[in-house]
Amino acid sequence: MRNGRARLVLVAGGAGFIGSHLCDALLAQGARVLCVDNFQTGRPENIAHLEREPGFDVIDADIIEPLGAEQLPPRIQLDAIYNLACAASPPHYQADPEHTMLTNVVGTRNLLALAKAHKACFLLASTSEVYGDPDVHPQKESYCGNVNPTGPRACYDEGKRAAEALTFDYRRMARADVRVARIFNTYGPRMRPDDGRVVSNFITQALAGRDITVYGNGEQTRSFCYVEDLVDGLMRLMVHEGDEIGPVNLGNPTELTVNELVTRILALTGSPSRVVTRPLPIDDPRRRRPDITVATQVLGWRPRVSLEEGLKATIAWFAEDERRAKPPASRRAQSAGRGKARPNGAAAAPASIS
Ligand code: UDP
Repeated sequence: MRNGRARLVLVAGGAGFIGSHLCDALLAQGARVLCVDNFQTGRPENIAHLEREPGFDVIDADIIEPLGAEQLPPRIQLDAIYNLACAASPPHYQADPEHTMLTNVVGTRNLLALAKAHKACFLLASTSEVYGDPDVHPQKESYCGNVNPTGPRACYDEGKRAAEALTFDYRRMARADVRVARIFNTYGPRMRPDDGRVVSNFITQALAGRDITVYGNGEQTRSFCYVEDLVDGLMRLMVHEGDEIGPVNLGNPTELTVNELVTRILALTGSPSRVVTRPLPIDDPRRRRPDITVATQVLGWRPRVSLEEGLKATIAWFAEDERRAKPPASRRAQSAGRGKARPNGAAAAPASIS
């Protein structure tokens, strides 16, 4: 609550994988939520269950353009802005690298300006990619990273580094109250099946009995955080009070190789899939594990969901998602002719939040 009214929170990228879980959690806490998404990688299905929530609205917009007054509900006062708007999987963010870079830099600038105008607290969803292929392990926030500025991942990781710089400049110039979360690999329900990421690829391949594609020798490591834990960390960071806080790593420090992940997923799905190898993508980091001392000490946060539990929930969700995508012949006949649902309020200025 702020001045006796529910907090109004803008979530850019709110129809995406992490963003939609954040919208759920904010609404559950009693906040009102304005979800901004251009539906490039965000999915209407992720927020369809919120359609009838009185405290929830959607603006179909790209943050590369400043949000015009006509797009926002009249007379609103934003309390907080989360910027999660950007394609995050390598195949998606590399499909239009110029757009990725502009989303990170110009999009972040537009939302920072909005935060300044509303005196709203701003949180940038940054990434472990700012550490590049790290020479220091595990990665602490003080490590400046080893990023190739001209490689195919640069549009994303250099874009996020520039977004971080701009965010901290807004603090230095006393223009906005800001926070930066460096998000490590996150997984869970609502990942896109065509995301091209390791967890979504391996689960969809295992469920369909297709070959499991290991890139390189599979000895590269990642640390996977369940989405519910991550969202809890983001919300704690946003409401953190006290001394100004630098960037904060949010991730699960349990590190495993890609080969170990294959073994876990094959065991949990009971899949007969074979493992095949594919070339390692350019600039693929060899290892990654967050040092979460800052998040633990300052925010009292640590991940709670084990990999086993999280993978089970994610596998169950993908199995259900596949069933929804391929309805049996009888249901297919019934639904033929029905119009395609649009996201709630998409394209129109939302009216219910004020
Ligand atoms: N990877 C893999 N097979 C796949 C997809 C990814 O072996 O089908 C590898 C990828 O090369 C990387 C790791 O899994 O080493 C994590 O990839 P992801 O794209 O999920 O995340 P990121 O590289 O951004 O951490």
